[in-house]
Amino acid sequence: MKEIKTDVLVIGAGAAGIAAAVSASEHNLRVVVVEKCSIAGGNATIAEVGTICGLYHNSFSGTEFLVRGFAREFAEKLQSLSQTVSVKGKDGLHYLPYKIQAFSLLGMEYLQRGNITCFFNHEIREVNTQQNTILSLGVMKDNEVTQIVPATVIDCSGNSIVARLSNLPVITEREYQSAAQVFTMRGINEDREDRLSLQILKAIVAYGDEELVDGHLPKLYLVPGSLSQGRASFKIALPFTIKEGADQDQHLAESARNWVKVFADFLVVKLASFKNASVDHIAVSPGFRVAARTKGKYILTGNDVRNCRRFEDAIARCSWPIEEWNETGRVHMEYLPEYGYYEIPPDCLIAETAHNLFMAGRIISADRDAIASARVMGICLQTGYAAGILASGKILATPIQDTIQEIRRLQMDYI
Ligand SMILES: Cc1cc2nc3c(=O)[nH]c(=O)nc-3n(C[C@H](O)[C@H](O)[C@H](O)COP(=O)(O)OP(=O)(O)OC[C@H]3O[C@@H](n4cnc5c(N)ncnc54)[C@H](O)[C@@H]3O)c2cc1C
Repeated sequence: MKEIKTDVLVIGAGAAGIAAAVSASEHNLRVVVVEKCSIAGGNATIAEVGTICGLYHNSFSGTEFLVRGFAREFAEKLQSLSQTVSVKGKDGLHYLPYKIQAFSLLGMEYLQRGNITCFFNHEIREVNTQQNTILSLGVMKDNEVTQIVPATVIDCSGNSIVARLSNLPVITEREYQSAAQVFTMRGINEDREDRLSLQILKAIVAYGDEELVDGHLPKLYLVPGSLSQGRASFKIALPFTIKEGADQDQHLAESARNWVKVFADFLVVKLASFKNASVDHIAVSPGFRVAARTKGKYILTGNDVRNCRRFEDAIARCSWPIEEWNETGRVHMEYLPEYGYYEIPPDCLIAETAHNLFMAGRIISADRDAIASARVMGICLQTGYAAGILASGKILATPIQDTIQEIRRLQMDYI
């Protein structure tokens, strides 16, 4: 069996994994990235979520970055590649629309650094531990297993794969937030998003229940900032409860594709602006918002978020509301005050028991309400970058206070 030794193993090449690999590589360490899909981006590209949230202050005036360092650099490059501008909602939230291909290209560009080796289409299948240390991980491709022997592991899998395979403590719920399916149509004869959204809403209210389905109609949203040159992306809120441990991904994906067809046919028949429209493509996978998080030395709480709590050793900050989607497709938002934000301490990125395991992105150590805010990509980029530095500090035996200072200097405005 093939065996690969590395300093840092990053699992997952989503927003968090890209950031983690970059910061670890900046410490001249050997970095291996294992990603089960064929492209970089995770939810950002595979599920095509389409906008980056959590980058800016919430304010009713102009757009101001809340994040600094790598997260801001990534957003600025992505904006320039996508040729998009940030959007301000009526609720004072600002976000950045991006082009899916631009995200995946930018992600790949970052991962092409000399000391980063990427294994796409490879999946972590087993984890071997001894006395609270992760010794090796079995990675599968086409029925062939490679053993990776890392000094440190950063789990950015979006599903706590390391903790789950090695029975480390995880934070779960019986039911998670609902999933959504994005699809794109072309040939739309309308150039204003507000008008398009209103037309769709009116058509669904007028004909939806009888023509689409009997009384169980999912909600359909226009992805903000996506309408351009007759193309627009739409998000179907999938009407299913996402249960912990249930094997429901395939059923969900099939059902999502059926809904795309139903909605696309409906829009073409009912709306003049869709008369010549057709489905351009469907995102590879439905997007899953929340899954099991890995228990860290500290669990960020909903009250930390609501109270805009600050931490002396904070390594990231976030102003995004607690955003909870239920299975009827409705969203409940708990906003922070204008210019309010909370901070995230490093202990949310350090596993409680395994001493060489770190986590980033949407599986940091957080309770149900806190992750409903901290899961957005502006924060995943920050926690990913911070986790890369924490893992590097561990290998280089840097005192933890110095490592935290380094993160705060690079990523926050503290010297
Ligand atoms: C419908 C929906 C809409 C959203 N809208 C927004 C939005 O508008 N703005 C925003 O900022 N955020 C949004 N989010 C949240 C955001 O997209 C995610 O929380 C974020 O992208 C998570 O990034 P991540 O890197 O932590 O994980 P992911 O993006 O989930 O990446 C994890 C990666 O790990 C890989 N992986 C998993 N298991 C394994 C394994 N065993 N072996 C190898 N690789 C593995 C996966 O293939 C994936 O590429 C939305 C989410 C959803 C679902």
